[in-house]
Amino acid sequence: MRMTQQQSANLQARKARLRASFITQLPSRLGELRERVSRLDPAQPPDRLNLQEIHRLFHTLKGSGATFGFPEVMAAARDAEQHLSRVLDGYEALGEELLDTLSHQLDALEHLEIDRAPCLPQEPPAQVALPARRSGRDITTSRAEHSIYICDDDPEVVAELAMQLGCFGYRVTAFTSLARLHRAVAEAPPAAVILDVVFPEGINAGPEALAEINRLTGQRVPTIFISNREDFGARLHAVQAGGSAYCTKPVKTVEMVEILDLITDTNPVEPFHILIVDDDPDLAQYHALILEAAGMVTRVLSDPALVLRQLETFQADLMLIDLYMPQCSGPELAQVLRQVPAHVGLPIIYISSETDAERQFRALAAGADGFLTKPIAPKRLVAEIRLRAERMRTLRSLMVRDSLTGLFNHNTILQLLEIAVAAALRGNTPLSFTMIDIDHFKQVNDSHGHNVGDQVLMALGRTLRLRMRDSDVVGRYGGEEFAVVMIGASAERAMQVLDALRQSFAAVTFVGEGGQQFHSTFSAGLAAFPDFTDTDTLQDAADRALYQAKRRGRNRIECATVATEPKP
Ligand code: GH3
Ligand code: MG
Ligand code: MG
Repeated sequence: MRMTQQQSANLQARKARLRASFITQLPSRLGELRERVSRLDPAQPPDRLNLQEIHRLFHTLKGSGATFGFPEVMAAARDAEQHLSRVLDGYEALGEELLDTLSHQLDALEHLEIDRAPCLPQEPPAQVALPARRSGRDITTSRAEHSIYICDDDPEVVAELAMQLGCFGYRVTAFTSLARLHRAVAEAPPAAVILDVVFPEGINAGPEALAEINRLTGQRVPTIFISNREDFGARLHAVQAGGSAYCTKPVKTVEMVEILDLITDTNPVEPFHILIVDDDPDLAQYHALILEAAGMVTRVLSDPALVLRQLETFQADLMLIDLYMPQCSGPELAQVLRQVPAHVGLPIIYISSETDAERQFRALAAGADGFLTKPIAPKRLVAEIRLRAERMRTLRSLMVRDSLTGLFNHNTILQLLEIAVAAALRGNTPLSFTMIDIDHFKQVNDSHGHNVGDQVLMALGRTLRLRMRDSDVVGRYGGEEFAVVMIGASAERAMQVLDALRQSFAAVTFVGEGGQQFHSTFSAGLAAFPDFTDTDTLQDAADRALYQAKRRGRNRIECATVATEPKP
């Protein structure tokens, strides 16, 4: 769903208004915090109510700071918030030192140079200065179109979720009233809505409002319901109102992102490529026509001798082969293909008027995946071919992708690095290679369990995938290590992008199995071409830089330079 310019302008205008109101309210929020902090007295038993309120105020500030594009506000508020939760949980004492930290953060917040010019909230810094892409779809623009509306009567839930989703690259607008949400959807339909179920208007007010919105706007907005209610009635209402998913609170960010990715995915699926080999050109053309009408891309050959050459340029997902051809039979052609390593897995389907089961069986034994009998109903032809081509795509993606994160696996990323280095050498263009390693990941597993550890890995994989450009290659290098190849990016550029990513990832809140919240960080080592000119030295240098980053305290990125490398 593409927004019209008018809709997009309206959305920007509304965001600008929300942002302006945040700026106006900031001094009074800081004033209240200042007053409350001044009442904290280390000599007295702690006033928990006051502490909790200070914690909540910093927490909200952190959320809205992130939502409205003030990373410094978010960072300062987050730091204060973290100290306060440690005090509330009994891990940290309320001493003079902490009071100093708090008032220091407040000073910093009060003296912040707030840029009043309306800017796009949550636009990652890396995207602002990206050079224009030479060709292809601009992934950053298309993601920016994925605007998400959140509506919940609890402002804290809204702020927190908005901040979290922002970390994954989504553009979020928050609402606390159903009426406002309704107006916004009518003005500028979002890619998805996240909607609470219970509102002051009633226990099913969320689903009822959605049904009404869909009826009046004549469209069906993809919606995820979030609720404290777990009963069947609430779920049923949500389904009847047209909800796509239902999540119970507390909302797990990773889960939410997973669903949003699914329902906002606008990437068109690459059509299936089918190679048809038949010595009867009319019949071959007829089958091609049926498959093309179903959206597939076809090539037709009447001479089997040309198949290998054709496959060099036409990446077929499947071949449809006539069983009897004068020069060579279908099974013979299949055997030839199976002897070429690149085509061992290529699905082959025979098509023939042969109805003798015995002969069909023998043909299949020569290495094919199916048998269709002429004449075949167009619908059946399409269904059979689609089914097998789909299975092939899945298998292929499993071979080159890591199953937990969906990223390229170790071998593939190294192959891609090699190709990228060769291209950089030819064109004398920059290139950077980065190794990323999660900090103290063993501890995450130990304290929260392996499943939660996996969640952290998936979240980092997702963050990398969402925030990198299409031309960048992201892979899982092994265990809790990732690697990124940024084509065309100098060391400085890569450093900027990755550092923004590092901060985003550190802000993601994870929920352990016992419900306890925690954050995770990573360290990274970066090496760039032309400082290093082949895959081995790039890998070595990045690895050493990563080691430096760990030694220098973690949650940081180090860049290898020729000067820092050991002399051979
Ligand atoms: P450092 O900050 O120095 O990197 O410390 P670390 O604990 O992250 O590093 P270390 O290499 O000692 O531990 C990595 C841990 O990652 C150990 C291993 O059990 C865990 N791990 C590796 N692969 C997976 C996985 O797929 N899932 C989960 N949950 N854990 C994994
Ligand atoms: Mg490690
Ligand atoms: Mg680690």
